[in-house]
Amino acid sequence: MRHLILALAILLLAACGGGDRTAGPAGRSVLDRVLASGTVRVGVKADSPPFGVERSGARMGFDIDIAQAVARRLGVEAAFVTVTSADRIPRLVAGEVDMVVASMTQTRSRERQVDFSVPYFEDGPAVLVGTASGIDGYVALGGRKVGVAKGSTTAQSLATIAPEAVLVELPAIADLMPALRSGTVDAIASDYLILLALRRTEAEPGRWAIPGGRIVAEPYGIALPQDQSAWRDAVNAALMAMWEDGEWARISDAWFGQQSAMPADVRFVLPTIPR
Ligand code: GLU
Repeated sequence: MRHLILALAILLLAACGGGDRTAGPAGRSVLDRVLASGTVRVGVKADSPPFGVERSGARMGFDIDIAQAVARRLGVEAAFVTVTSADRIPRLVAGEVDMVVASMTQTRSRERQVDFSVPYFEDGPAVLVGTASGIDGYVALGGRKVGVAKGSTTAQSLATIAPEAVLVELPAIADLMPALRSGTVDAIASDYLILLALRRTEAEPGRWAIPGGRIVAEPYGIALPQDQSAWRDAVNAALMAMWEDGEWARISDAWFGQQSAMPADVRFVLPTIPR
C-alpha cells in the first residue's frame, strides 16, 4: 500500500510540473521518462559479489535487491544493464541508464560528472593475499604488485596507505582473482565485502587472507544523471521509505545477517530527512 502511495505521489508531482524540465539525454526529465515508460534502466555489476553478480542469466546481490525495491516503490520495472567500475560513469553520462547501483562510492571528484542519492550503504577498500605470501598488512605491500580494478577508488586509497606498493590496473573486478591465482600479482585490492565474497567462492578459501582490514569507510550512493533534481528526490524518497519501514534491514539481513551465507558486521545508518 505504501509503495502505491509513494508511486502515486511521485506521479502527481510529475503531472503538476514538479518534475525537472531540465533536458536529460532523452530531451526531457528523467523522472517523466521513467514514469511514462514504466521502466527504469539500472546499471548493475555482474562481477562484484555480494552486491551484483549474474549466474546463468540470473542477477542477484544486495544492489540488485535495492534497485528492485526502488523500482517497485516508483511503480516501474527495473531493466538491468551490466556495468563495470570503469564504464558505469560514461554509460550514465551517455544516457544509457537512468541510475547506477553498483558498489559505487560517492566521491567529490565523481560528483563533477554525476549526482548521487543519499548514501544507502558503506564499505571500504582492503587487500586479499595468499596466506603463503607472507604479506601480513599494508606495510608489507612495499615493492609488491597489487591488482586493482580500473575505474574504482581503490588505487587512490592504496596509494595513501601503501605508497610503495606497485599498482597493476586490471580491466574489471572479474579480473582480480584470476590475476592473483596465476601469480601475475601478489595481492588484489577492492572493497572489503567484495573480497570476502570472492574468497568465499574460491575452491580453497583458506588459501587466501585479508590482512589489515578496511583502509577507510566509504559511502555507497546510487549514481544519477547530473542536475535531475526531481529524479534524485524520487530515488531518495524511495530509499528513505525503505529504511523507515524495515525493507532495507530485510535486504541487509538477507546478505549480511547471521543466517546469511556471509555474515558481516554492518553498522550503516541511512541518513533520513524528516517528512
Ligand atoms: N566502492 C569502490 C568504488 O566505487 C570500489 C568498488 C567498485 O569499483 O565497484 O570505486
